[in-house]
Amino acid sequence: MVETLSIAVIGAPGVGKTSIIRQFIYNDFSEVYTPTRTRYVYRPSVILNGIMYELKILDVTTPGSAASHPFFEWLDLRCRGVRNANAYILVYDICCVESFEYVKMIRQQIVEHRYGRPEVPILVVGNKRDLQRQRFMPRRAVSVLVKKTWKCGYVECSAKFNWHVVLLFKELLGIAVARGMRQNHTSIRLQGALQRNRCTIM
Ligand code: GDP
Ligand code: MG
Repeated sequence: MVETLSIAVIGAPGVGKTSIIRQFIYNDFSEVYTPTRTRYVYRPSVILNGIMYELKILDVTTPGSAASHPFFEWLDLRCRGVRNANAYILVYDICCVESFEYVKMIRQQIVEHRYGRPEVPILVVGNKRDLQRQRFMPRRAVSVLVKKTWKCGYVECSAKFNWHVVLLFKELLGIAVARGMRQNHTSIRLQGALQRNRCTIM
């Protein structure tokens, strides 16, 4: 049986969420910015340490202003799957301090909404590493803040040059699997089948 893991990729518009996902799945990159208008779900299969997993990667379009819309309230209306994700990738652009503030706010909301399940892994990703001369904060300072204070993983990547893209998924998957976050397909299918047939087990 193949195990399933749902991963929500969240971040301010333009930070490179879609580019990271497309580079990971299709080895493809576009310089042209096409804003993601609707919720998009990718379903690649991966093998980690000899075990196959089906990933459900949610490319989450965000509301224009995060400050005026509490993110998770907004999600209730549009994308419940994000609340129940098994892991989160929070992407910011290393050259854009506002995108980091956005990630900070989203991480706070995830922690609040997931009060009973603190083990859900969160990986913070600094994208556009190829533009590193324009970065707003030294890598080491961000890394220490994210790892020590936020208790999240931290990876920097470049979707443009496919640098550390596979690594970031591998890292997140490794943490998720180690924490037992994967969903077991067998029981999900069984539950669904039982509900459909209205079968009562005595
Ligand atoms: P999204 O709104 O977060 O999904 O962002 P996109 O993936 O659509 O990317 C927004 C823009 O940033 C596009 O023009 C991409 O070509 C560009 N971009 C994405 N990743 C990188 C990167 O690693 N380096 C550079 N230089 N540009 C990138
Ligand atoms: Mg997008």
